[in-house]
Amino acid sequence: MTNYLDQLNEAQREAVLQKNGAMIIIAGAGSGKTRVLTYRIAHLMKQGVDSFSILALTFTNKAAREMKDRIGKMVGHSEAKNLWMGTFHSVFARILRSEADKLGFPKNFTIYDTQDSVRLISAIIKEMQLDKDRYKPKQVLSRISSFKNSLITVKAYYNNSELQETDKMANRPRIGEIYQQYVDRCFKAGAMDFDDLLLRTNELLTRFPDVLAKYQDRFRYILVDEYQDTNHSQYLIVRALADKFQNICVVGDDSQSIYAFRGANIQNILNFQRDYEDVKIFKLEQNYRSTSNIVEAANSVIDKNKTKLDKEIWTDNSKGEKIKVMRTLSEGEEGRFVANSIFENKMNHQLKNRSFAVLYRTNAQSRAIEDALRKKDIAYRIYGGLSFYQRKEIKDVLSYLRLIVNPNDEEALKRVINYPARGVGQTTIEKLSVAANHYKKSIFEILENIDKVDLKINSGTKLKLQNFVTMIKSFQIEAQIKNAFEVADFVIKQTKIIKELEKDSAPEAVSKVENVQELLNGIKDFIDEQNEEPEDGTERKTDTSLAFFLEDVALATDLDNEKDKNEDSVSLMTIHLAKGLEFEYVYIVGLEENLFPSAMSMNTRSELEEERRLFYVALTRAEKQAYLSYAHSRYRWGKLVDCEPSRFLEEIDDKYIDFMTPKVSPNINKFINEDIFGDVPQDKVRFKKPVQRAIIKPKSKQKPKTVPKTIQISAPKNLKKVSNLNQNLFDSNITVGNVVQHSKFGKGEVVSLEGVGSNKKAEINFDSVGNKKLLLQFAKLKIL
Ligand code: ATP
Ligand code: MG
Repeated sequence: MTNYLDQLNEAQREAVLQKNGAMIIIAGAGSGKTRVLTYRIAHLMKQGVDSFSILALTFTNKAAREMKDRIGKMVGHSEAKNLWMGTFHSVFARILRSEADKLGFPKNFTIYDTQDSVRLISAIIKEMQLDKDRYKPKQVLSRISSFKNSLITVKAYYNNSELQETDKMANRPRIGEIYQQYVDRCFKAGAMDFDDLLLRTNELLTRFPDVLAKYQDRFRYILVDEYQDTNHSQYLIVRALADKFQNICVVGDDSQSIYAFRGANIQNILNFQRDYEDVKIFKLEQNYRSTSNIVEAANSVIDKNKTKLDKEIWTDNSKGEKIKVMRTLSEGEEGRFVANSIFENKMNHQLKNRSFAVLYRTNAQSRAIEDALRKKDIAYRIYGGLSFYQRKEIKDVLSYLRLIVNPNDEEALKRVINYPARGVGQTTIEKLSVAANHYKKSIFEILENIDKVDLKINSGTKLKLQNFVTMIKSFQIEAQIKNAFEVADFVIKQTKIIKELEKDSAPEAVSKVENVQELLNGIKDFIDEQNEEPEDGTERKTDTSLAFFLEDVALATDLDNEKDKNEDSVSLMTIHLAKGLEFEYVYIVGLEENLFPSAMSMNTRSELEEERRLFYVALTRAEKQAYLSYAHSRYRWGKLVDCEPSRFLEEIDDKYIDFMTPKVSPNINKFINEDIFGDVPQDKVRFKKPVQRAIIKPKSKQKPKTVPKTIQISAPKNLKKVSNLNQNLFDSNITVGNVVQHSKFGKGEVVSLEGVGSNKKAEINFDSVGNKKLLLQFAKLKIL
């Protein structure tokens, strides 16, 4: 390969060549921060730095894999494999694995995912007989999570009257007790949740100076991507590890800090200079990702934020098309707009699906987009929903596997103790749980000693429980001689899980069976990957044990389990998940007040600024073209609500924007799209007044291949529809006091109005029949 240093600009090269010391690269989106980290690692290795002594922390495991792959190409794959690279959670889970006993945890501790944590908290709330509407398990978990990420232990919580006061004010005075219970129960189950992976690492590094020294010596070079989104716990880990050699390089962009709600602290960037000696600061100012229109539009938006570091970003790239803004009537129409536009761009520019991404503020918005893409037969993939491993049927199988590795795992045990059904009822499980708490043992330990404790469980049930214990123990014996795949296969057969799933005749049941099979395939792949011969013939330690597989699964996000790297689908994800990624064409949907910016983040300047940064992140994902859309009404929480365009649309300087919406009534657009033309893109539709005839005329700039140039609509059937619609249009303008004509009731006066959109009703005082409430959609009123 050509000299890799030639693939960098001067500022980037300088940052790569600066070998030792503390350095921070603060730069705008798309300026090559991640590229610098990647090249820096390759360069260190070329300079003879041992790959085992480099630690790189990334935002997703996928990012780590891509980085490793790139480095592998530059310095050889087998060397690159030795790098310590991954998310904070995965790297420190690995370290905790070998040090857990120091903290009183088993080495094969379980990692609870969010689902497990929520279930445990729900159980605690129930056992404490608290009101679950006041103590909502998810909210309680996020409160506990915020304590952990600020290193506030239970003891520290009780020493902090301010925190306790806050919970009292929020009408949740017993948070401390739940926190205590939760921590105890996790400990007893030999389980750590995601936050524990950081909290316990901190504990390990502070309580055991020899352990700290060991890892300080191991990680001579530390690099952190997306530093602006590290929380306090992560910050402390990095600081402790880097303290000895101070070879630390962090990169970030304060304008892309979007995780404050999860405890990320932008101060970490600002304080960096204070924390290390002789910090070198690098700035990258050239954007290589996007057209100049996009770069400048993004700059014009982020300029509105008061809190930000001073930095410029410019690009040599061509101007490109303006950002297109689309106004739509409903979320359904928005979905169709996106699908049509993707289809058209694919045709016009011969593109693959993977060139496109649709980004939204909340996961709920994906449904309308999905519907429209499906109708157009465009393959898509949603990121950030329930991951494969969190599906019920998969979690059930995994729970058996987790029990084999760690029988104290309470959440796993509760899932499968009566699945497939073996006659163990809820009351029995509750009795076991109470006993476990009383004796300070795990449920499994109680089960093992079921004869010695008086639980008032009848002998029939007792026998069933003993059989369950025997079964799990027999699995454990198998696990000693078999690899992960063989064990899983054995467990699935012995427990008859597939048969259980096949009993269900619902159509989804078939896919559940397939999913379980897919899980087996996944385990097989995992083993094959582990056994892969390094290209240069060197020996590599392989680990195909169940525990290792389970750890991999626990830390996998669904951004990670791409089945096939060459998969060709449109990416659908929240903006939060899109950080660091890039796509040629990006659609940002739902640009409406209360949705984006979110209704929950408009109370303070700092919240609003975070939403604006989120918009900046979204916009700067686009390489060639960005589309923004909003709807006039949308279903939210089951209700149709009227929406206003987002303030962010106004904040982009006009000169970078092109409004696509034709200047006709929104109702007519809806009609055109749905009823007459199906898939004709809206911007190709113009109306001649009066509304009896539609002419489809492409805008001259765009070169549609799929749409005929002009179509006259003259069919009487359509004419009729148009005139009905005309009538409806009229209705939506009705106000109190209007005198109206109804086909059956005659003349009347509008007394009041209620509801919105298709639910809008008017109360009318008719001369003939008195007061009547009518749904405007159907009333066909004429204003006189
Ligand atoms: P973000 O802030 O979104 O994380 P970033 O600063 O990490 O962005 P990169 O992802 O590293 O930016 O780079 C953006 C794009 O520009 C990538 O496609 C990268 O390959 C390309 N790029 C970066 N530097 C150069 C360069 N010197 N020459 C050519 N392409 C470059
Ligand atoms: Mg990056």
